Amino acid sequence: MVLGKVVFILALILQIVIRYPYRTQAQTHQPDRQEQVLLTLLTIGGLVIPFIYIFTDWLAFADYASSMGIVGLGILVMAAGLGLFWRSHTDLGRNWSSTLEIHEEHRLITQGIYRQIRHPMYAAAWLMMIAQALLLSNWAAGFGGLISFGLMYFLRVPKEEQMMLEEFGEPYQHYMQQTGRIIPRRG
Ligand code: SAH
Repeated sequence: MVLGKVVFILALILQIVIRYPYRTQAQTHQPDRQEQVLLTLLTIGGLVIPFIYIFTDWLAFADYASSMGIVGLGILVMAAGLGLFWRSHTDLGRNWSSTLEIHEEHRLITQGIYRQIRHPMYAAAWLMMIAQALLLSNWAAGFGGLISFGLMYFLRVPKEEQMMLEEFGEPYQHYMQQTGRIIPRRG
């Protein structure tokens, strides 16, 4: 459905706009091999395959029928994901980076949306990848994002938390006890 493709592209543009101010501030360093592979897979699953699907008919064999209901749900989930993506960028501020790293003036953020969950940006990515599957009615283009991001999430988060524990010690340990990874902790 054309509407799903249009919304997907608009959402990509919004993601770039939301991230842009933080990107210029982020210090760059050479990511390790695992990070490079995971980021490459994410680019393929979240960007390259969807673009091939949208702009060519090479993936037509993997198409399936969509409906207005599914695309409508996709728009709602994408809007929620983008809202959370924006909120986590404003709260994390200069501490954001595309790969795992600690900046010179790194601060531990535990306020704003980070008060509820430790990984709101990854929660936002899960929502946007689910939306991708709802908006693009094609097995490869729809699920490429979920599969590649799922892999990245499960391999990266333990490493990220280990890195934060080494850097911030007890305060991060305490913070981990107070929060859920992507789902708020009750009580
Ligand atoms: N996992 C977080 C942040 C993703 S950006 C989220 O999903 O919202 C990745 C970088 O954020 C990591 O390199 C780490 O340095 C930094 N980071 C993660 N949690 C943080 C926190 N609570 N406070 C400050 N920096 C954090």
